[in-house]
Amino acid sequence: QAKDKGKNGYCVYHPGAAAYLDTRFMIENDLHEALTSNQLQLHYQPQFTTSGRTLVGFEALLRWHHPKLGWISPAEFIPVAEDTELIIPIGEWVLEQASRQLVEWKQVKSDLKISVNLSGQQLKNEAAINRMIAILHASPLARGDIELELTESSLPETTESIRIRMQLLLEAGFLLALDDFGTGHSSLFYLHNFPFTRIKIYRGFIERIKSRSDSQALIRTMVAIAAALDLGITAQGVESEEQLGILSAIGCDLVQGLYLGEPMSADEAQALFEQ
Ligand code: C2E
Ligand code: MG
Ligand code: MG
Repeated sequence: QAKDKGKNGYCVYHPGAAAYLDTRFMIENDLHEALTSNQLQLHYQPQFTTSGRTLVGFEALLRWHHPKLGWISPAEFIPVAEDTELIIPIGEWVLEQASRQLVEWKQVKSDLKISVNLSGQQLKNEAAINRMIAILHASPLARGDIELELTESSLPETTESIRIRMQLLLEAGFLLALDDFGTGHSSLFYLHNFPFTRIKIYRGFIERIKSRSDSQALIRTMVAIAAALDLGITAQGVESEEQLGILSAIGCDLVQGLYLGEPMSADEAQALFEQ
């Protein structure tokens, strides 16, 4: 089977090979069971203020340990979950799990926040959105404790119903971040038409921040857009001190990336703010 160990220790399957279809079939078949037999886990990547490097919260990232295939990256199984609508129960599981974790952690650090990724498919489903709101309301969490991240490329074509659902999520107390900003076909259109509270800059821009001056100029512009629209702005994929220095000079408010902390288990995450 065409596979090797990826950067994060995941199995990477090469599309094009016959094995790819087998794997995709296996993923699709086994994803149901992943949810019911505790094969899914959340890892948490810390987010810091750029200026003071103070921990402000974590992004919850899904991990799947498949009994035969080992660790499978969300980049591989989330698209399958989206095609099969399994993203709805999986997304609810993630939100429930992350909320419970945050309730527990806030007893130690009361101002901690959590970000949860939301698929565009979830936004298309009105009942699913209502259940998410019910999960938040059933928890003792405060307004603004949970931010939902929507990846630009996963956003449905704008329709009034999507905008209204986002507004309902905001009114319920969620914050809304536009993830991977700058990768979609209509980044500014999304900002203009949907009620986001934060922008997360796509890590490709951060990656080239040193070698390409146009990349720095684009980031400066994104920070200016965020300021003009009164939105928060996070840089993701920060991998060096040098990148952090430039982002700090530009005035990006939050940072996240391997240089500051990789996605880690709940216990490791807790150790970060318990000391
Ligand atoms: P994302 O939301 O943009 O998450 C950031 C991804 O970048 C994560 O990959 C993280 O491990 C990785 N990363 C963090 N710091 C760095 C860095 O410094 N350099 C580099 N090169 N990468 C870094 P991961 O965990 O594999 O997740 C991939 C994507 O899968 C996420 O991208 C998100 O779109 C999706 N995803 C993960 N969990 C969920 C979930 O619960 N629900 C949904 N709908 N999607 C999820
Ligand atoms: Mg994200
Ligand atoms: Mg991203």
